[in-house]
Amino acid sequence: MSYLSVAKFGGTSVADFEAMSACADIVIADANTRVVVLSASAGITNYLVELANGCESERREAILAAVRAIQYRIIDNIQHPENVREEIDRLLNQIQILAESAGLATSPALTDELISHGEMMSTRLFTQLLHEKQCPAEWVDVRNVVATNSQFGKAAPDDTKTQQQADLVLKPLIAQGKIVITQGFIGRDEQGKTTTLGRGGSDYTAALLAEVLNANDVLIWTDVPGIYTTDPRIVANAKRLETISFNEAAEMATFGAKVLHPATLLPAVRSNIPVYVGSSKAPQQGGTWVTRDPQPRPTFRAIALRRNQILITLSSLSMLHAQGFLANVFAILAKHKISVDVITTSEVSVALTLDKTGSASSGTDMLSLDLLTELQAYCNVQVESDLALVAIIGNHLHRQAGIAGQLFATLVPYNVRLISYGASTNNVCTLVKNEDANQVVNALHQALFE
Ligand code: ASP
Ligand code: MG
Repeated sequence: MSYLSVAKFGGTSVADFEAMSACADIVIADANTRVVVLSASAGITNYLVELANGCESERREAILAAVRAIQYRIIDNIQHPENVREEIDRLLNQIQILAESAGLATSPALTDELISHGEMMSTRLFTQLLHEKQCPAEWVDVRNVVATNSQFGKAAPDDTKTQQQADLVLKPLIAQGKIVITQGFIGRDEQGKTTTLGRGGSDYTAALLAEVLNANDVLIWTDVPGIYTTDPRIVANAKRLETISFNEAAEMATFGAKVLHPATLLPAVRSNIPVYVGSSKAPQQGGTWVTRDPQPRPTFRAIALRRNQILITLSSLSMLHAQGFLANVFAILAKHKISVDVITTSEVSVALTLDKTGSASSGTDMLSLDLLTELQAYCNVQVESDLALVAIIGNHLHRQAGIAGQLFATLVPYNVRLISYGASTNNVCTLVKNEDANQVVNALHQALFE
């Protein structure tokens, strides 16, 4: 088969008629894009989740009206609305029926069935739009391809069965020259029930289809023109990266950068399929290729920032306790299910930062009184908050002479609470005050990238 790209357009890219038209133009302009995976129009999935959680009739009616309005604003701009209106009305009607039953009793299977309608609607509208631009688009129900287990809300694909179904359903269409338009995020279990892969799951669908189709690449069209050296809202001189490795992108995401985490694209990562990230609203601005081993590998790739970190410093009450000190400290933290992030140690003390990601807490309250009491019985405890973790991400950082010197020189004007250097070859972390964070990122960016 000739060169094949699987393109995925996210919710903001298909939010309204103008955005969808821009996506249609991108698909038409690229002869390699033969399979297109769509999210629901922005906002729709959130509304559907609310309906699936069961709400009172007044709120339900308001949401149904809002969902209808979003899709109708698109229909109203289509040349031949009569070609899709009936189907969209049928789906909207279905949403209403499912929402009413969710109002009586919710269930994970019902939730997945209901929220799958967002992608069903966006793909119908987009297919019609492509037809109006003379593009041989073919709508496909992705549930006939993506087979999953029955873990509603976070279903795992059955790769073998999905492969077989892709061979049967998708390959003939592609061979006929059709442009396949299909849904991200959803699948079907063995009982024939609709499942979903977890929020944001459309990227996974695109990567999975690329894998089973042996595609050359995955194009993720979103609302940002690729990945930057750092957040452009903080550093005006931030530069777009031409390339970045899957590992470096994962480090960036882990350290707080709002970039696509490669884990959401696992099939592409494991099958070594390059992933492109670009903006559907500004395709001419270019994007970033995320690949397994881009060359060259620069020493410094990017800077990430994660705010609102907590630093706990624990010191042993007596040298007698020094043996096993760290083991005991970590046992206590583990017992309280605290995920430790960055650590530095000296002989009888340890400083560690806590990552609040994934916890509902908004500050030091993730340190329960129980935990503190238990720690205090054993060691001195000092807690500092309002800190920010700045991570420099790159390659072979531990092997480059002069990095520590360069870093310290740049950080001279700031009160640095902690530096973690040497544990990872891919990052150097430093903890500074929240209020200094923007300046530190700017200073580092200037020193390392400008
Ligand atoms: N529409 C789904 C969501 O909002 C899936 C996706 O956008 O990737 O989570
Ligand atoms: Mg999305």
